[in-house]
Amino acid sequence: MNRNQRNVWITIAFAMIMSFFILFPSTTQAASTQIMLDNQPVEGAGDVMITNQTTMVPIRVISEKLGYKVKWKQSDQLITISNTAATIKLTVGQSKADATSGDVVLEQAPFMKSNTTYVPLRFVGTQMGLKVKWDNTSKTVFLEKVSAGPDTNNGSIPDPNNTTIEGISYSDNRLMISSSGQVKPVDSVLTNPNRIVIDFPSTAFGKGFLQGTELKQGEIGTIPVTGSADVKQIRYSVFSSQPAQVRIVIDLNQSKTYKLYQQNDLTFVDLNTSATTKPVGSNGKKVVIIDPGHGDTDSGGIGATGVLEKNVVLNVGNKVAALLKKEPKIDLIMTRTDDTFIPLDSRVKIAEDANADVFLSIHGNAAPNKDASGTETFYADTKRSKLLSDIIQKHVLAATGFKDRNSKQANYLVIRKTTMPAALLEIGFLTNKTEEAIMVQDEFQNKVAEAIVAGLKEYLNIK
Ligand SMILES: [Zn+2]
Repeated sequence: MNRNQRNVWITIAFAMIMSFFILFPSTTQAASTQIMLDNQPVEGAGDVMITNQTTMVPIRVISEKLGYKVKWKQSDQLITISNTAATIKLTVGQSKADATSGDVVLEQAPFMKSNTTYVPLRFVGTQMGLKVKWDNTSKTVFLEKVSAGPDTNNGSIPDPNNTTIEGISYSDNRLMISSSGQVKPVDSVLTNPNRIVIDFPSTAFGKGFLQGTELKQGEIGTIPVTGSADVKQIRYSVFSSQPAQVRIVIDLNQSKTYKLYQQNDLTFVDLNTSATTKPVGSNGKKVVIIDPGHGDTDSGGIGATGVLEKNVVLNVGNKVAALLKKEPKIDLIMTRTDDTFIPLDSRVKIAEDANADVFLSIHGNAAPNKDASGTETFYADTKRSKLLSDIIQKHVLAATGFKDRNSKQANYLVIRKTTMPAALLEIGFLTNKTEEAIMVQDEFQNKVAEAIVAGLKEYLNIK
């Protein structure tokens, strides 16, 4: 490098050192603080800091874990965070922030440390409409998504008279659409190409389902379908916003008869149309709900080399689905079969609406301690679910060969709020480099899926 370049470098280095002293307060310390969102640990939230008694989180937690839109303007050190309801602006090193209600003075200004921008969690959370509670004993921040009610209505929330679509999945030759209330679908068959069209009048997509993104009129979301001779893919779109109408299309490979029926707030388009086909659960079959965790902007835990939990658990879930499809005594419903997000309460509602016999949520673990390892399964209620959890743990542990972290009690929302036997499986730790490398393998995922099916069959006493 020549002399001019060197001068530039010295200037940059000096500026960096100065900004370190200015922007990075001396009271900052790493904290063993936990963040819970709707009673689920925010996995991989990582380096939370307590500065001037304020919980500071890396900006990626705001975007990846909480799902808000984050813009970073380097020249002004300006951070803009937004969702459909609010937009706030913070500046690195400045305690004054631009909130929805006007200027607000922060207890702790955003700062940078090791190339990471930290923002105050409570301020961001409350501004974006979350309920924020701090439990000092357990050093836990509890965030709760306040359900859309009159107090959070701000004009951008859809007409409360509209029912919302909360989940769409395709498994067991059957499309399942879950909604917040009663819907009156209108179905029709079109040819060239062959497709089944289902319209939902006075219906919109739920905010949770769309995860902060917007589906405008004319835009189409697709759900890929693999391993089906009949179905190519599922498409969904806002057919009309005024008045609200949702359209869901099943693209067929060949013309196909189907049955449309409803059970509580679930709508099924069933392509299993033999003479003996009856609505889910009314045929003596056991109804099993498989719930691959996370999805869409909620990536779940992030692995040692960046593998996302939402993808691993979806793969395993779909492998379980392929196996259960062959089980004549089981009716399977998946909460999701693609990279969409289903709100936690909607996952519970699907299971309840389906009168499920068993609920199993599939996850991959993450921990700040990179050496943490092993397989574990959780139940919320001993009487209702311990046996299921024990059996799943036994089978999956044998398949993973990981350390036995046991079947144990925990209060995760999806296993606490469901009323049927329910368990939450953590296959292994994605934050552990060795386990991450194993968990992405197709063969390993097949083995785990087989173990899950064996466990379910043992529990349900199906030979
Ligand atoms: Zn998870």
